[in-house]
Amino acid sequence: MSGVRVASLKGRLHLLVDQLAIDVEEASDGRFGPDPQSAFDHWADFTEWMSTVRVDDSVATSYLASDLDTPISRPPQIFAIGLNYADHAAESKMTLPEHPVVFTKFASSLTGADVEVALSGERVDWEAELVVVIGEAGRDIPVERAWDHVAGLAVGQDLSDRAVQTRGNPAQFSLGKSFKGYAPVGPVTPLSQLPSASDRDALAIKCVLEEADGTSRTLQEGSSADMVFSISEIIHRLSTTVEFRPGDLIFTGTPSGVGIGRDPQEFLRAGQVLTTEIEGLGSITQRMI
Ligand code: ZN
Repeated sequence: MSGVRVASLKGRLHLLVDQLAIDVEEASDGRFGPDPQSAFDHWADFTEWMSTVRVDDSVATSYLASDLDTPISRPPQIFAIGLNYADHAAESKMTLPEHPVVFTKFASSLTGADVEVALSGERVDWEAELVVVIGEAGRDIPVERAWDHVAGLAVGQDLSDRAVQTRGNPAQFSLGKSFKGYAPVGPVTPLSQLPSASDRDALAIKCVLEEADGTSRTLQEGSSADMVFSISEIIHRLSTTVEFRPGDLIFTGTPSGVGIGRDPQEFLRAGQVLTTEIEGLGSITQRMI
């Protein structure tokens, strides 16, 4: 079976295939429980089972994207990387970092794939991001083994209240990026479901804004191939300090085209709809209120 994604639908672990959802506890006769996060705690067993599932074997039902929750609601850790694309560092008037710039988005900001987001102020910005989900624990992970620790990839948004993010000296990023709903994450595409291993380091990333009157513009268009620190480099470098755990999330940074880097600057307003799309991983949508 190909094109399978791992999701939380109304709080229960599901596989999504061709617009249909399969309840994992039912389809596995209880071998796997309903808690979405548990899939990542037993990732090798889970993916092995997943490869045996047939859509007609099980109770596959249609579903609404608005019923998708965040696939992982209690990640042990959430890492986010700043200034990880040269063109975005330049538009932010920052020099390229020598070491990954790391902050967190607190877990209570996680939300599902198709949601309303209440804007926290006048300077809320978009950041389309590829999110890595860790499937195997480890410390001091060599670059060449880093992908072995990855369960899958997902589409995310690092919504950022620039006023809060940049206040104070030194400024600290994490709170301004952790308002309610500011960390939407879509269903997880297991690595085995990507077309080929070479694609996982070069995925097209796009972000489109639709106005209340229905007109739309592409705001960001990039490729994960342009990361300053590649996914394996991020995992390697962070793991020299921290231990990665199953279910950890890494927001890997955003390409250029954010609102604060524009002339004139531009920020999100109520009524706008933001869609973030990554090649092979699907898309997520937030309606601003
Ligand atoms: Zn970001």
